[in-house]
Amino acid sequence: MPIQIIIEKCTGCSLCVKACPFDAIRMVDKKAVIDLNKCNLCGACVPACELKVILLEKPEVVTGAKTDLKAHKGVWIFAEQKKGKVQPVAYELLGKARELAASLGADVAAVLLGEHLEEEIQELIWRGADKVYVVEKQELANFQDEPYTNILVELIKKYKPEIVLCGATSIGRSLISRVAVNLRVGLTADCTGLDIDPQRKILLQTRPAFGGNIMATIISPNYRPQMATVRHKVFPETVSDMKRKGKIIRDNFGAPLLASRSKLLDIIEEIESTVNLAEADTIVSGGRGMNGPENFKILEGLAKVLGAAVGASRAAVDSGWMPYSHQVGQTGRTVSPKIYIACGISGQIQHLVGMQSSKIIVAINKDPDAPIFKVATYGIVADLFEIIPVLTKKFKDVLKR
Ligand code: FAD
Repeated sequence: MPIQIIIEKCTGCSLCVKACPFDAIRMVDKKAVIDLNKCNLCGACVPACELKVILLEKPEVVTGAKTDLKAHKGVWIFAEQKKGKVQPVAYELLGKARELAASLGADVAAVLLGEHLEEEIQELIWRGADKVYVVEKQELANFQDEPYTNILVELIKKYKPEIVLCGATSIGRSLISRVAVNLRVGLTADCTGLDIDPQRKILLQTRPAFGGNIMATIISPNYRPQMATVRHKVFPETVSDMKRKGKIIRDNFGAPLLASRSKLLDIIEEIESTVNLAEADTIVSGGRGMNGPENFKILEGLAKVLGAAVGASRAAVDSGWMPYSHQVGQTGRTVSPKIYIACGISGQIQHLVGMQSSKIIVAINKDPDAPIFKVATYGIVADLFEIIPVLTKKFKDVLKR
């Protein structure tokens, strides 16, 4: 039993009853009795008992062995690939990794797992990697949790990076949490800012917390590597410099590490009938001000003329007007288009964190005090049902579409 009272020594003073915040202790025949269905083993009763007759087994806190911090060097990024093509998020991470490495006087390395990757290895070097750790195996051609986790863990143990960054994509989230648990180190998910503390030379990992109302900066001072995921489009991609040179380090791992309990049967591509939101240069988004699903047609009309994707606020998605895949914001997608047109969206922080790095923000709202105007490059105070048809017609004429 994780908690028990030495019943013969209990005097029935009931101090433990008062100390229990979960109402889990009752006096029965002048003896304290713990209801294990209510007790959450918080231990508040233990110091309250003057006779020390409550025994609580403290669960062992599992942490990694304290790391030899000096043995860890370099900033790594996990270069996610699909169908043998490195995904843009890897180039975004490389840009940030270069900044961090410059502050630390360290190298930048990319880890690439897959098959037939020659051109991609070169591109990673041209885009900013000083080293590329490569493991090429048929079993790694497509992402699978277990082999990818095993191999990344082995590489980290062998080469000891100081920092590991990964995209907060479906693959990245699935992989890196497993890697962190295996290594027993911390992980900060969905960072929107990364920096190096100039004094302590540790990674400052900033992300929205408490529903986006505050920005929290998290550190992992005692364990290495320091690990973080970053959403796609938060940082700009590096450009390719064909003069850059780098080192390629190939590793080979045997069958036990490549084994997987799950079997990949097929990959079914999501068919996008419209422009992909995350990749779009222009996004036209609608919020609760659209007043109903049928009115998204006018947004789609404007989007079509502009070659834009259609986004939505959570209010519009929660109302069932648009599918979740279109939601922009903290619990939706992070986007960073050249132009973001927000129609009938008030501009709550949870929406803003998903789109405020857009180059030009145009806000259409009938309320001149709507917070969206604080981040907008151009603001139109108007009824969207009047202004959007006018804009659509004008763009149609100008763009001849
Ligand atoms: P509202 O705030 O209701 O604003 C509607 C706006 O439309 C108003 O400003 C109004 O003036 C304007 N309007 C109305 N009629 C017209 C008209 N005819 N013409 C012009 N303007 C008009 N929200 C997100 O968007 N994305 C997220 O990922 C997200 N994640 C969240 C996570 C958490 C943990 C929480 C707590 C909230 C989250 N939210 C998110 C919700 C967020 O707080 C807001 O509730 C939401 O963004 C509001 O959506 P909205 O701006 O469309 O609606």
